[in-house]
Amino acid sequence: MKIGFCGYRGMVGSVLMDRMLKEGDFKYFEPTFFSTSQAGGAGPDVGNGATVLENAKDIKALSAMDAIVSCQGGDFTKEIYPQLRQAGWKGYWIDAASTRRMEKDSIIVLDPVNMDVIKNGLKNGIKDYIGGNCTVSLMLMGIGVLFQKGLIEWMTSMTYQAASGAGAKNMRELVCQMGAVWNAAPELATNPASAILELDRKVQATIAGSDYPTANFGAPLAGSLIPWIDVPVDGGQTREEWKGFAETNKILGNDKPIPIDGLCVRIGAMRSHSQALTIKMTKDVPVDEIEGMIREYNEWVQLVPNNKEDTLKYLSPAAVSGTLKIPVGRIHKMRMGPEYVTMFTVGDQLLWGAAEPIRRMVRILLDK
Ligand code: NAP
Repeated sequence: MKIGFCGYRGMVGSVLMDRMLKEGDFKYFEPTFFSTSQAGGAGPDVGNGATVLENAKDIKALSAMDAIVSCQGGDFTKEIYPQLRQAGWKGYWIDAASTRRMEKDSIIVLDPVNMDVIKNGLKNGIKDYIGGNCTVSLMLMGIGVLFQKGLIEWMTSMTYQAASGAGAKNMRELVCQMGAVWNAAPELATNPASAILELDRKVQATIAGSDYPTANFGAPLAGSLIPWIDVPVDGGQTREEWKGFAETNKILGNDKPIPIDGLCVRIGAMRSHSQALTIKMTKDVPVDEIEGMIREYNEWVQLVPNNKEDTLKYLSPAAVSGTLKIPVGRIHKMRMGPEYVTMFTVGDQLLWGAAEPIRRMVRILLDK
């Protein structure tokens, strides 16, 4: 099988390359690497020697592939995908961008949760397999079992999303903001005898000042937060918030959609998205049974006991970044009644939230 990779050097693409090398995926097919900006240059060596980059906008070269994996972004998909199909290309399109996610003839891939939907799609000749929104995929990797057992009547998800979800430039901007905070008053920060309000005033003046670097986020993130991600949609939501409802129900293949809603917030974590969930269950299930179902759901989920020590050790972006772990913790019943339960979950949005479902889809396609 010939598989083409577009966007392999971006953030999601590089994480995908790392994972594919680590899992030895490249020995099962013939890869070709494409770039929109560096065609003719040197491509990555994935074990068979040097490669030369093809032009990612060359429809003829792309059409020679049996499958194309794109981590290039939504604008690329919008421009190239229709041209490929119009040219008669019948290959598999595997994409990290959201452009084609909600199309009728595409499947959102998250195989530990919806392998049956994927297998059905392959049997029925579906050619487009798209990675889900990062927070949706991470949430389902942690608690999908509660949906699958029909235990969720409705759910809210309040997210705490890392800077890296907004791209490489935004990650740099966050670090520059952190540096500016430090530079505001290093001697006051390190001197326990100094007046705390003086430190506070200097830091606040820096964060709110016109020199604070905010070109990419449009507002301070380090020392603050931004309760808005993506563009507005109807009903007061942002598109990121709408995806929680639309994509979760599509991934699960629900005929009767389950209401899911909440606010998505950008916070000053570098990598890994977190979310606090409030669930109205369809019946009163004891906490230890809920914990048992989550613990056994898949090999990546990690049940974190609801105590301070384990929470601080295991349930944070710092604890999971760069790993495939999906910790779920803080699980307890709420004051509203016995059917109301809350919990907190974290995951690396570049791994299970983006690259890993795509990598695994390639293996499913190859039947390896
Ligand atoms: P990205 O880092 O901006 O990379 C996209 C492309 O930008 C690269 O493949 C590369 O293409 C080009 N590029 C230009 N300058 C570059 C440089 N200095 N270093 C590396 N690449 C450079 O995009 P991304 O964050 O990986 O996102 C790709 C897609 O995945 C998007 O649709 C996004 O919405 C989706 N996604 C992202 C995340 C996330 O957490 N970031 C999570 C889930 C889904 P050329 O080689 O053609 O120039």
